[in-house]
Amino acid sequence: MNLLSDRILNMSTSATLAMAAKARELRGEGKDIIGLSLGEPDFNTPDFIKDAAIQAINDNYNSYSPVDGYVELKEAIITKFKRDNNLTYTLPQIVVSTGAKQCLANIAAVMLNKGDEVLLPCPYWVSYSDIVKLNDGVPVEVKTSIETDFKMTPEQLEAAITPNTKMMWFSSPCNPSGSVYSKEELRALADVLAKYPNIYVVSDEIYEHINYGEGHASMAEFDDMYDRTITVNGVSKAFAMTGWRIGFIGAPEKIARACNKMQGQITSGANCIAQQAVITALNASPSKVKYMIDEFKVRRDLVLGLLGDIEGFNSNTPEGAFYVFPDVSYYFGKTLRGKTINNATDFSLYLLEEALVATVTGDAFGNPNCIRISYAASQEQIIEAIKRIKDVVS
Ligand code: PLP
Repeated sequence: MNLLSDRILNMSTSATLAMAAKARELRGEGKDIIGLSLGEPDFNTPDFIKDAAIQAINDNYNSYSPVDGYVELKEAIITKFKRDNNLTYTLPQIVVSTGAKQCLANIAAVMLNKGDEVLLPCPYWVSYSDIVKLNDGVPVEVKTSIETDFKMTPEQLEAAITPNTKMMWFSSPCNPSGSVYSKEELRALADVLAKYPNIYVVSDEIYEHINYGEGHASMAEFDDMYDRTITVNGVSKAFAMTGWRIGFIGAPEKIARACNKMQGQITSGANCIAQQAVITALNASPSKVKYMIDEFKVRRDLVLGLLGDIEGFNSNTPEGAFYVFPDVSYYFGKTLRGKTINNATDFSLYLLEEALVATVTGDAFGNPNCIRISYAASQEQIIEAIKRIKDVVS
């Protein structure tokens, strides 16, 4: 009998965290690594949110909160959904969890049975596939290409649907491609789904505010999709609050109640101080965090401009999030500084070892031709990192 379960033995380690660990190890050896692998803002949490947390501590918020979150927080989430997304939810439709990641884990646990297929337009966020597998679901990758800005077309969606398709999960803005689905594009996907009323959608909108284009659209905005869309969001990215671990869903009531029940046995709810601070964050105008978005946009343009000068880096123009996802397959089969590059993992490791720049292989996101470069780093770091990359691939 194995000490460890098949469940954990079959799970892959998060590639982004693995790369960060390797970068840390090299740093420990004294190497000057520039980290462009992690998906977290390099800003501090804004002071007005920190102050609310300090106030909550002084007000003796120290007991378990309701499992699905404080009512005041759920009310702030309802107001946020109405204000930013034109979505109407009621209290029993909202569940607050320990990050959007736990929201996704809850959804998979309460909705998937063995063999249920979950469509994942590629590239997708690293954890989707393992969360689905952990819950006996079958991830079904729908390959997209740079020609369609890494967005799934209605034809691709239709072709991927089988009698076992239970759900579709996607993020817009997308981690890792930065692609943003317009309202028209979402409508075209919804038109396909209209023919399959049993398929549910997870619309992961965690990068909602980090959007440089025409604005954000939610799948649940369409009347015919509202009852079968679970809208996932949180404060990690736009409010620079990754470590505070608060995410939330707006969902059909039956699903929200199931997530609440699941969470009641697993975590007893999210951290009470963080929940109190998030009430303040969500009640504030999104314009309060615009300075971060403006800076991300400057960096996006900087990265695209600098990468554009390097042979073999073929990028789309990300409209949101803080990543670029260049296709680097030009280098496959080539030998650089005595090292043969066979795939994106080799390339990413090569950049770490030779340029001392940490990126993440696209393999982890379901696209083996690309690497992900995070621009949640200072402009100086970005300029230096891309200069180093250019040097080692020339
Ligand atoms: N969804 C996407 C697309 C993400 O990129 C991330 C974090 O990287 C998450 C969800 C998880 O967010 P949280 O920190 O709220 O768990």
